Amino acid sequence: MQDLIFFGIQGSGKGTQAERVAAYFDLNIFEMGAELRSIAQEESDLGKKVSAIMSAGELVSDDVVMDIVERFLGNISADTHVLFDGIPRTMIQAQMLGTLLHTHKRSEVGIYIELPEEVALERLLLRKRADDTEEGIKKRFENYYSATLPVINHYREENRLITINGNQGIDEVTAEILNAVKNYE
Ligand code: AMP
Repeated sequence: MQDLIFFGIQGSGKGTQAERVAAYFDLNIFEMGAELRSIAQEESDLGKKVSAIMSAGELVSDDVVMDIVERFLGNISADTHVLFDGIPRTMIQAQMLGTLLHTHKRSEVGIYIELPEEVALERLLLRKRADDTEEGIKKRFENYYSATLPVINHYREENRLITINGNQGIDEVTAEILNAVKNYE
């Protein structure tokens, strides 16, 4: 089993699918957004800075993000498999994460849940989270297209990407992912 890296625009159902797939294969989920939300609650300088960046829908700096991942990887055993959700989001993070994983003798495959932007927007406006204003969502879509699509293409070019149709029912998406992972060499 390899580590899995989940990709998908906000609203693609990535988080829900991550939980289901992790439960099925007994993977440890590392969710970048949740890690950052927890830091943003702290009264420290870093907490305040992260909180301001997240409210604006901007990306937290690669250094801060990679420090958190590095600490996480240093604390798990070699036979624990990981599902990464929300990282890497930039090419620099992709390169840094790849190096980190290979240093820890791990290998990874990307799972891309593909969904048209207008469907994602509709779904996001139905949930209620502090940063889910229309402006915040638009900003995160922009980040996604400019910073994260190149990362997805990079995994595809390296033949380490499984693309899943996210525009179907939750159970169908889960079934497609489980099948694809089981059949992945
Ligand atoms: P998410 O829960 O994945 O929607 O992430 C919420 C917010 O956390 C994003 O809008 C960013 O501000 C920040 N964030 C999450 N993951 C990353 C990352 N890999 N790099 C930089 N910022 C991130």
